[in-house]
Amino acid sequence: MKKIGQFIQHFWHWIFIILCLIIIGGSFYSEHLDQVKQQHEAREVSSGQISNQQLHENGILILCYHRVVNNHTFSSRFALTLSNNDQLHEYSMPVDKLAYQIHYLKDHGVRIIPISTAVKLIKENKPLKHKYVVLTFDDVDSTLTSNVYPLFKKLGNIPYTAFIVTSNTGRYDNGTRLATWKQLHKVLKSPNVTIGVHTNNMHYLIDNKPALKYARNYPRFKKDYQKSEKIIKKKIGHRTPYFAYPYGEGTKREQKYLADHDMVTFSLDNGIVTPGYDLRQPLPRTMVDEHSWNNVIKKWVNASVEN
Ligand SMILES: [Zn+2]
Repeated sequence: MKKIGQFIQHFWHWIFIILCLIIIGGSFYSEHLDQVKQQHEAREVSSGQISNQQLHENGILILCYHRVVNNHTFSSRFALTLSNNDQLHEYSMPVDKLAYQIHYLKDHGVRIIPISTAVKLIKENKPLKHKYVVLTFDDVDSTLTSNVYPLFKKLGNIPYTAFIVTSNTGRYDNGTRLATWKQLHKVLKSPNVTIGVHTNNMHYLIDNKPALKYARNYPRFKKDYQKSEKIIKKKIGHRTPYFAYPYGEGTKREQKYLADHDMVTFSLDNGIVTPGYDLRQPLPRTMVDEHSWNNVIKKWVNASVEN
């Protein structure tokens, strides 16, 4: 009897130990699964280069668009179907899609603000209560005046910034015509439109590398920048404090020069800008395409905010 009693006692000891091991092992395993999931999410989001922490923060997301085509006209549909021009496909946004995206952002409580308000919020350095988006358009071809301008007017004067290559206005570039000053003047009359520069004439690649990435181009860059500001001043009566790097990149020396000239600059790195951001550094901008819309923008818009 004694042996049976001891056996039962041992038996329960063992059951207890095994249960403990299962619980400890299970919690380690679920922690491991959480970590794997988090790593996976981080990688997925970081393929759009926005960290998991940024995903759950209120902040300012700056979006970069290029060409906005009218998908209703036969000629643009035809051009999009037949064209081998990668840029036309990659950077072209049908106007309906742009309208959908604006509605989507607004319906999800995102506030679309002008760049000047964004800079003010960054300088004020107070926690943000909302998610904000700044809209920017690079290169500025004539579709800005024919498609974006009427759409944004109709949607209630949505604010946006147009970054122009000051020497290229009216020229043909990659199969698209860049906006003329006459067209730009019409757009710039609206108080919701801000103008910025995208160099005067340094928007090109040398051996697949942006011209502004070459240290030897620094003297040319300075002259080019001064020229672009001169043209802007002549055309619209005042300078602009906004500069977008072609292809999103320049050198540290160029950045220092622009920051010393009170310029707010823009890269093409993804990221959420939060108050207190160092404005002597380029502000990150997210180029809008199918991938970034699904993997960065929508995710951030829908993510819960952790304080
Ligand atoms: Zn550009």
